[in-house]
Amino acid sequence: MIIDTHAHLNMDEFNDDLDQVLERAFEQGVKGILVIGMDEPSNLKAIRLAKAHDMLYATAGVHPGFVDHATTDHLKALLSENKVVAIGECGLDFYWQTDNKDIQIKVFKEQIELAAQTGLPLVIHTRNSFQEAYDCLLPYQGKVTGVFHCFSSDVTDAKKAIDLGFKIGLDGPVTYKNSQILQKLIQEIDLSHLLVETDSPYMTPVPYRGKRNEPSYVTHVVKKIAEIKAMTVHEVATVTTQNAIDLFKLGGLKG
Ligand SMILES: [Zn+2]
Repeated sequence: MIIDTHAHLNMDEFNDDLDQVLERAFEQGVKGILVIGMDEPSNLKAIRLAKAHDMLYATAGVHPGFVDHATTDHLKALLSENKVVAIGECGLDFYWQTDNKDIQIKVFKEQIELAAQTGLPLVIHTRNSFQEAYDCLLPYQGKVTGVFHCFSSDVTDAKKAIDLGFKIGLDGPVTYKNSQILQKLIQEIDLSHLLVETDSPYMTPVPYRGKRNEPSYVTHVVKKIAEIKAMTVHEVATVTTQNAIDLFKLGGLKG
């Protein structure tokens, strides 16, 4: 059994064939999927999908790419919904946008505060911004938890994230030829700190690069981690699934 801890099934890319996408995932052993919100409409759609399908869970947050038009005002009401298991995706992206760093940091801090108040874990996006995100989280060490999703930094930063009480989310890039930094991270970081995800429809793993990503492909991420760690696929799937169940308190799913 595998859990895809990060998929944007609420995006239009999945409007036409969501049922088949879920069926293919289920056949591959994917028994739980977190549908990730990024702003109010996508948060509401994630929750709607999670209510309609047993295997889906939702997150609600404001993504750093949306902070110019979205606020966190609507979030609090959504976080008490039954199948909302995390706050996010939130964080800082200083790759795509650097002219609004202050507002990105403000909106991220508001969501960290919500995590502290509600006890919900954070799903964090960082790009060219690990240190700044770390600085925002440090005052909350021991009070908030979560995952650094689509982790793209090095072992040193991974260890800092783990010291903060966070998991490391790995997806398609671990299968890419030029991913030596991630492969070294996988060698050095204990499986107990890792989650697997797809970031569908993005970050498609080998051998499907160039196509739309979907949760069934998370098996390729699991396989690659198993190969690098010289473990069985079963072992990697079992431990990372249990990590996800524990972090997101996924009731009804047993590891
Ligand atoms: Zn995402």
